[in-house]
Amino acid sequence: MTPQAIESFFSTLHAANPQPVTELEYTSVFELLAAVLLSAQATDVGVNKATRRLFPVANTPQKILDLGLDGLESYIKTIGLYHSKARHLMQACRILVEQHGGEVPRSREALEALPGVGRKTANVVLNSAFGEPTMAVDTHIFRVANRTGLAPAKTPLEVEKKLLKRVPAKFLIDAHHWLILHGRYVCVARKPKCWECSVAAYCDFKPKTPRP
Ligand code: SF4
Repeated sequence: MTPQAIESFFSTLHAANPQPVTELEYTSVFELLAAVLLSAQATDVGVNKATRRLFPVANTPQKILDLGLDGLESYIKTIGLYHSKARHLMQACRILVEQHGGEVPRSREALEALPGVGRKTANVVLNSAFGEPTMAVDTHIFRVANRTGLAPAKTPLEVEKKLLKRVPAKFLIDAHHWLILHGRYVCVARKPKCWECSVAAYCDFKPKTPRP
């Protein structure tokens, strides 16, 4: 995609949804961190269902620790891989309490040092909670970036670096959300809905899927 096409691509997504937000429900930085940690290989809808019961009871690192592992598991049983996610969340909460005064640190290094928190989760927290122009490349963004020609690359990290270079600065904070939503609902994995895509004119994918 040319720089002009990229500019138009994001202007169009911006016009349709000026303030995009994550579909995970949260009311604090810690709730966001916990929700993202629980969301690996699970749907946002499934995570929201569990956290709607969990957060009213325990929404700080200390309160999660107070629940104990079995208590925590009883709230998140419906989420895939809940055993390991519960263990990671407990360990992360212990570090947050012992090393960060119960707060979520605003540093990539400190975030990635938490069990269960990788580069993608750190990027989501830095972006959505702290407003930093990071790019968390999930399966949707990886696909959309490659398919459209926006940032074609072989690994999520390469896509992340290319996107950070190519997305105009004014769109960087929200680009992550627009790309995820676009990939989730329009530029879907099996057959992209090109016939109803608002950015089809700027996308390099050929052949476009015709209207069914
Ligand atoms: S035109 Fe098709 S391939 Fe291109 S962004 Fe839209 S849905 Fe995806």
